[in-house]
Amino acid sequence: MKFNAPRGTNDILPPDTLKWQYIEKKTHQIFSNYNYQEIRTPIFEYTGLFQRGIGEVTDIVEKEMYTFEDKGGRSITLRPEGTASVIRSFLENKIYGQAQPTKYYYIGPMFRYERPQSGRFRQFHQLGVEAIASNDPALDAEIISLGMRLLQGFGLDDLELHLNSVGCADCRPPYVDKLKNYLNEHQDQLCDNCKSRIDRNPLRVLDCKNKSCQSVIKDAPKITDNLCDSCTDHFDEVQEYLDILNLDYLINPLLVRGLDYYTNTAFEIKDNALGAQNTVFGGGRYNGLAEEIGNRDLPGIGFALGIERLLLSLEAKDIQLPVESGVDLYITVIGDKAKKESFKLLDQLRNQDFRTEMDYLDRGVGSQMKSADRMNAEYTIIIGEDELNNNSATIRNMKSGDEKEIQLSNLLEEMKKLVDKEDI
Ligand code: ATP
Ligand code: MG
Repeated sequence: MKFNAPRGTNDILPPDTLKWQYIEKKTHQIFSNYNYQEIRTPIFEYTGLFQRGIGEVTDIVEKEMYTFEDKGGRSITLRPEGTASVIRSFLENKIYGQAQPTKYYYIGPMFRYERPQSGRFRQFHQLGVEAIASNDPALDAEIISLGMRLLQGFGLDDLELHLNSVGCADCRPPYVDKLKNYLNEHQDQLCDNCKSRIDRNPLRVLDCKNKSCQSVIKDAPKITDNLCDSCTDHFDEVQEYLDILNLDYLINPLLVRGLDYYTNTAFEIKDNALGAQNTVFGGGRYNGLAEEIGNRDLPGIGFALGIERLLLSLEAKDIQLPVESGVDLYITVIGDKAKKESFKLLDQLRNQDFRTEMDYLDRGVGSQMKSADRMNAEYTIIIGEDELNNNSATIRNMKSGDEKEIQLSNLLEEMKKLVDKEDI
């Protein structure tokens, strides 16, 4: 019998897990600088939440959800994204009764039944952020800059920020009518998928990758030329705040979100080194979402960043995260008595936060030293019967080769001196 992990899922193995830990640690740090707090919602929700919160006429809800009936006959869906759950939780726990705005972030796995390929998986991981209950354009800029700063913190500073406004319930419907008319006039040049989108979700046509569709889209009416005064003001102010932060952006009127509850700001951060799946993170305002899933008029804005894409982006640029695997000390033992004594020493060292290891396969000295090397031990010490009798052993710096004779009973003290120092 042989089992493989399900298609589209990945085992994240050491030493790669160190990169994940690093990314998570850095995320917690940076998000706390901006006063965002972590929220953890369930991995699954009732299906209806996503149908309403993401929208029936979307790829996710139409094709990509992992939906099943539980043993109680309820329809359950593995979360395909985080925003709907965060807003559900905000409403359910009456967080709106507390001081506002509320600034949350999350990190965790998401599930979408998509065609697996580079940068696209069925279980993938997002870190995302939501700022709820304020419509201040400064918050739009804060959210965008938070994402950019996070990426810069990992060494990614040449990514493109695409920015747009998708208007509001007042100015978008007349724009959508204009767009529909235009698309209907050019139906013959559109792909089948886009033809069917004209009535169902015409804004989605704008981000079709098909060549022939692109040539139609190029001259389509632009949302940015059709915003109402209040949306124009909001958009201008977002840009002003981004300018204050010296963040470069490209206005991209083709960047849209298909659903009614998305309003004003939409943005995507792209890495052109990534090929087809080049969006590292994207987001925008969703001032109509809380109304949709909870009958409450509450503005919100957020983004979600794909951690696998972030890692691919780092890889494409050959950026190494400063992660360190290995141990501070490897104790090479000779004989049973030394093994037992060393076992005690390990315990003392570990209790003082030294990363330490020894052999568990009864190997000879040579193989033990090889192990020490393989696990990147900074120091090694050989302990046998003689060393025990003389209370004396040689500790060796594996990088420099420097050696020092120490009293075995002083090992802990010696390690305290050594590990912060470069050389013996
Ligand atoms: P795409 O256009 O690549 O399908 P999307 O618009 O579906 O992305 P969002 O729903 O906004 O993406 O999700 C935010 C981020 O999550 C994306 O920018 C991407 O980095 C990541 N992401 C989305 N779907 C996947 C997936 N199937 N596998 C890996 N990462 C993903
Ligand atoms: Mg997608």
